[in-house]
Amino acid sequence: MNAKQREEFKKLLLALHAELTGKTPQRIEPNRTDDARIGGDEDEQPLNEMMQAIASNRNRNMDGVLARVVKALGKLRDDPDSYGECEECGDELPLGRLRAMPYAEFCVTCQSSKDGPKGPATRKKLTDYS
Ligand SMILES: [Zn+2]
Repeated sequence: MNAKQREEFKKLLLALHAELTGKTPQRIEPNRTDDARIGGDEDEQPLNEMMQAIASNRNRNMDGVLARVVKALGKLRDDPDSYGECEECGDELPLGRLRAMPYAEFCVTCQSSKDGPKGPATRKKLTDYS
């Protein structure tokens, strides 16, 4: 990766960082319907509470991303050569993967072996049901 590419990813990361630290969690969720907007009516209070619960769940998930964004920015600053390399096997991450996920730490192969086969405890043997 050359300096110009690193600069490009740095901008992406800074934009992500601004988005994640700014108070605009709704922007991360894809728009579903316009009539799902949160209104100011008292009637809608239960809905508001529900939406807030969803938003705080989402924010918790986003914390992990923010931590990785900060980490990636730190790499670009302190050890630019290591940015864009898989932390597991040291391979360079494809630029397409980095553009989609500039905070990616692992290549697809290492990531999927970390994630394991489709989440924990989904596979059950017949003997589990005895
Ligand atoms: Zn790897």
